[in-house]
Amino acid sequence: MKRKRHSVLVLLAGLATAIFFSVLVAAFNYRTGLDDLNISLSAAGTRLGEKLAQHEAHLTALAAVVRMGEQEQTDSVRGLAEAIASFYPRITEIATIHVEGASAVMTRYDQPNDRVEEQNSAELPVLTTPGSTVVRSQTGDVQHYEIYKLVAPGLYLLMKIDAGGLVADGLVPHDYGYQLWSEETQLINRPLRASTLLTATRDLDVKSASQPFRLEMSRGFRTTELLPPFVVLPLLLLLAAAFYLLVAFRRAVRAEQLQERRAALLEQETKLAHAGRVNALGEMASGIAHELAQPVAALLSQSQAARRAIVIERRDILEQALDANVREAKRAGDILGRMRAYIAGGASQLETVPLERALTETMLLAEPDLARRGIAVDTVIASGDRLLRIDTIAFQQVFHNILRNAAEALAGQDDPQISIRAEASGNQAMLTITDNGPGISAAALPHIFEPFFTTKPEGMGLGLPLCARLIEKMDGSMEAVNVGGARIIVRLPLETA
Ligand code: ADP
Repeated sequence: MKRKRHSVLVLLAGLATAIFFSVLVAAFNYRTGLDDLNISLSAAGTRLGEKLAQHEAHLTALAAVVRMGEQEQTDSVRGLAEAIASFYPRITEIATIHVEGASAVMTRYDQPNDRVEEQNSAELPVLTTPGSTVVRSQTGDVQHYEIYKLVAPGLYLLMKIDAGGLVADGLVPHDYGYQLWSEETQLINRPLRASTLLTATRDLDVKSASQPFRLEMSRGFRTTELLPPFVVLPLLLLLAAAFYLLVAFRRAVRAEQLQERRAALLEQETKLAHAGRVNALGEMASGIAHELAQPVAALLSQSQAARRAIVIERRDILEQALDANVREAKRAGDILGRMRAYIAGGASQLETVPLERALTETMLLAEPDLARRGIAVDTVIASGDRLLRIDTIAFQQVFHNILRNAAEALAGQDDPQISIRAEASGNQAMLTITDNGPGISAAALPHIFEPFFTTKPEGMGLGLPLCARLIEKMDGSMEAVNVGGARIIVRLPLETA
């Protein structure tokens, strides 16, 4: 899943980069195309300006000749006009116009036989300064325009020009579109031929005093022009290869990092396991010392009692002491055996015992000590014939610990009491041991089952954690509550009745 997402991300990144580079290439090609357009427009503008200047030169020459003669219909005018018309086919008409009141007489010179036409003088453009010119575009014949030049008051020179001829000889690249404007009149319009993705248009005012034209040029950009496959394809291939290499490299680095991390983890785990074993060992050692302290102390006091019994020659006390010694030594041995089994991870030695017997045997061991301490014990057993499956030694050890804790809590207390209740509830036996001591402080209560937690100056804090483990091994559970004094509750499974 993670790998898939990674691949998709890489693909997207590759696509984005390819798009980015394609846009870059397209932008570059567009820019170059625009430069071409600008160069073409400027070149066309210059050449057009030259052509328009030629018209001015022709008019000036004609005007000079017209002014020279007595009358303008001289051979010289005709000769010049014919020469101009034959060299410059775009000049389609050369004529003079005489204004005589309301009418005007136009005489054409561009053809061998002069042709005379009558005109309405009101239709002529108004020119006052001799030498001045004006351009008139013809409506309905947009290809052509006329230049009027006032030679002398009442005498005009007229030149009609085919605008198409101005741009006919490759002035504009064949795949460009263009428009030639004389002020608001469009003289020529050649639209772009092919349909394209993008179009760019630039215009230019042609430098001419007599014919102030504007040339507009446009060029289109085809997709393949902006993104030529021979540029884009290798780019894409190159990118794909680069990404493939990058991904492979990153994978290799990741694998190496993973390997290193695994090795580090393994080392850490080994260290932790070792520390854990050392801890467990320490815990166990303390536990063993803790558990053996009581029988060893009993052995010591009973042995001392035995020695006194020999001195005072009391065989009965001697026998009692020796019996107690045997019992305590056996108990110590049992504890050690159980500890060994526990450390070795062996299973508890479970046996089936009636509830009542399990408890009375345990109390038999504990009562002398409690009696010595002046603690009253009150035991009530209900459903005493129900069967418990317990490890008897572990069970006695748990009770011994709980009772010892209660006895220690009751030290110095008036009327110290411990009450023991045993009852069956379904398939569970509930044993409660309640004392009337000060109880367990609220701060201590959540921690008393943690190893080494103790509130006693000489305590080891291993009693309750060990009890809990032992009870758990018998599939039971343990908890502590406060009911004024402390109450320890032990739950153990009962054999089905
Ligand atoms: P230790 O007896 O060495 O302190 P335990 O694990 O047996 O270790 O007990 C842990 C703590 O639980 C004791 O230090 C004590 O604070 C508290 N505790 C246990 N039983 C009682 C009790 N009957 N009354 C008050 N506090 C108790």
